[in-house]
Amino acid sequence: MSAVAAGLARVKATIAEAAREAGRAPDGIVLVAVAKGHDAPRVRPALEAGHRVFGENRVREAWAKWPALKTEFPGLELHLIGPLQTNKARDAVALFDAIGSVDRSRLVAALAREMERQDRRPACFVQVNTGEEARKAGCPPDRADGLVAEARGAGLDVAGLMCVPPLDEEPSPHFALLADIARRNGLAGLSMGMSGDYATAVAFGATHVRVGAAVFGPRPAARA
Ligand SMILES: *Cc1c(COP(=O)(O)O)cnc(C)c1O
Repeated sequence: MSAVAAGLARVKATIAEAAREAGRAPDGIVLVAVAKGHDAPRVRPALEAGHRVFGENRVREAWAKWPALKTEFPGLELHLIGPLQTNKARDAVALFDAIGSVDRSRLVAALAREMERQDRRPACFVQVNTGEEARKAGCPPDRADGLVAEARGAGLDVAGLMCVPPLDEEPSPHFALLADIARRNGLAGLSMGMSGDYATAVAFGATHVRVGAAVFGPRPAARA
């Protein structure tokens, strides 16, 4: 088995174990294998092992890597997990099946316009900056209800919420806060948890965990 296939199997087993401990069904948790920084040959063993859900954080990198693989491996589901500039909304809507970083009104408007124009409706996750970090993407927690309403009003298919907790903090309170905001907005999707904390995220109700390094190994430094 390749290192990537082994990593994939290990992460899936950990998710299943965390789900069991939380009294949840393992198939209620989607593993978004984060392929950013890795080229197509590195990603291929995961596809060959049958995995179909992948994450990228840059629109341009994703366009360079995925169109050919999309043709070769039907059923592929691509998630954009990185910040999105409004001028890339067109390319994002055209390629991705889910957009995980909806965090401001202008972006809602740009996405709504493109979805209408292309007649394509990727699922959207509203990103919440739960740690209120100055340099991090995501809307402030007290803006989340308003932005969810705005996105729904604009016709976006709002599947849930997404967060990236501060690196140097215990993630649990951030996961709990995100789950809370989702609950009061009637949202089922919770995209939270990365290589270091996805088992914890599952305990707090994650429906999507975004795991890169634990599947693909360390990213080539220059592009991570
Ligand atoms: C890179 C990235 C991940 C995956 O991080 P790992 O530590 O490699 O698992 C998850 N979410 C976002 C938003 C990312 O940018």
